[in-house]
Amino acid sequence: MVQFVDVRHMRDWIAAEGVEARIAGIARYIEQDFLRWASFDKSARVAAHSPVGVIELMPTSDGELYGFKYVNGHPLNPSRGYQTVTAFGVLSEVDTGYPVLLSEMTLLTALRTAATSVVAARALARPDSSVMAIIGAGSQSEFQALGFKAVMGITQLRIWDTDPAAMDKCVANLGSLGFDIVRATSAADAVAGSDIVTTCTADKAYATILTDDMIQPGMHLNAIGGDCPGKTELDAEILRRASIFVEYPPQTRIEGEIQQLAADHPVTELWTVLAGHGIGRASESDITVFDSVGFAIEDFSALRYVRDTTAGTDFAEEIDLVADPADPKDLFSQVVPQGAHRG
Ligand code: NAD
Repeated sequence: MVQFVDVRHMRDWIAAEGVEARIAGIARYIEQDFLRWASFDKSARVAAHSPVGVIELMPTSDGELYGFKYVNGHPLNPSRGYQTVTAFGVLSEVDTGYPVLLSEMTLLTALRTAATSVVAARALARPDSSVMAIIGAGSQSEFQALGFKAVMGITQLRIWDTDPAAMDKCVANLGSLGFDIVRATSAADAVAGSDIVTTCTADKAYATILTDDMIQPGMHLNAIGGDCPGKTELDAEILRRASIFVEYPPQTRIEGEIQQLAADHPVTELWTVLAGHGIGRASESDITVFDSVGFAIEDFSALRYVRDTTAGTDFAEEIDLVADPADPKDLFSQVVPQGAHRG
């Protein structure tokens, strides 16, 4: 039997502890897994592009468990009544190849993306950071805000989106959750005076959400929206004067902000900073950029956390996903009534 976490289970599981605690829990699992980076099979995700979006498979394994996420990215979807990003994922036992967990991951991706952002920011942002700009007030935005509140203690937000309705939604959703919120009038207005800038816009284009003149020494940029070939958010000049941190370079070189730079432009893998042998922020005035694209190990960590915390609870059910004949060589017995084919 396979442990199954559907949307209702996921919502109940999140509500039981709250969004902040779940993001903090996933962040702990991501840190554990990033610290054993060498034990994972790693590859850039497999992407099927179309003019309107992308569908991706994100596999990895630590030798005991294999995991993958199915995820899409369709920036025009909200105008058609669909979400930009949806996902589901699987964990399997490497030993038998049998799946052990099937889970919803649209909500879980928002939690894990916020968790990864705060793992990076805790390692890279100035420890005295207190104000965050959020550019792009769509699906990911509230989760990002709550992650930074839970892990970095950030409660002052400056929010900007080109869509006033998205800003209204975001401000209303976060309004009663302990934030001090400024509704900015432009991206530049949001960024002014911020210590951390999270960009989570969706546009399948080389967009320039942040221009070089907006960025002051000491800022940390958490750039999560540029995550596909031909889809970026930052002015290349910002990248040229920043220290850049990435998840897995072979994937980020083709999908991240750094696709705008030379293929050998220096970057630091985030896991090396966590492990203590990569250099993080060099000084108070260093500009740090987490060029996030989303990597399979983060989803593996999130699925592992879900499996550990839902096993044997009402937050999961057992489903019969794998045909399982008593004689493992007699699969045919599953489709013919017992004895019928034996006369
Ligand atoms: P969404 O469509 O729900 O929200 C995106 C928001 O960006 C919209 O409200 C839109 O109006 C706004 N926007 C677009 N262009 C803008 C601009 N120029 N200035 C200001 N706002 C602008 O999408 P989402 O689910 O919140 O995802 C946001 C982005 O994050 C997407 O590009 C998605 O692919 C990416 N993402 C990355 C990761 C990761 O791990 N790095 C994970 C999940 C999503």
